[in-house]
Amino acid sequence: MLTEREQFLEWLMQNELPETAVRTVITGDACGCIAGGRDSITPSEQWHRLNPTEDACDGTGLTSPVSTDTNIKGVCLPVGVSQATIPFADEIKTEIGKIQKDDHIWWGTVNTADGSYIDLSTMEELRDYITYDSIKYIVMVVKEVAGIGQVAYLQRKE
Ligand SMILES: [Zn+2]
Repeated sequence: MLTEREQFLEWLMQNELPETAVRTVITGDACGCIAGGRDSITPSEQWHRLNPTEDACDGTGLTSPVSTDTNIKGVCLPVGVSQATIPFADEIKTEIGKIQKDDHIWWGTVNTADGSYIDLSTMEELRDYITYDSIKYIVMVVKEVAGIGQVAYLQRKE
């Protein structure tokens, strides 16, 4: 028998209502600006100024970046003006500070190539993103929801 999550993934795969999007994950070698025993993983512009001959990472913390795209499906809703319908609204507000009108809520997620579950909680705010409706979004917060998997809070990337 299928679990609730498997049933939800199957529903995402088979229906027209869920939205399609592309998840982009960037991997590469750790740049010197985040390596070298610094306790922060935040890329350091100062390190690059002090080491001008090293490869530039353009603020991503990675050199020789490789980008991997995965086609996904989920249910995507704009947060709109009413925050009453946002799941975990208070927690999300605490974590990201301010909710913006063009933020989106994403439920899912299924890999459309093979129907497998995609975990969005490992996406890195600095470089990974979801392209939905030709707009790039950063995954700001991910919450586990019993039965269906995850709900993710998306904010427009720049
Ligand atoms: Zn760097």
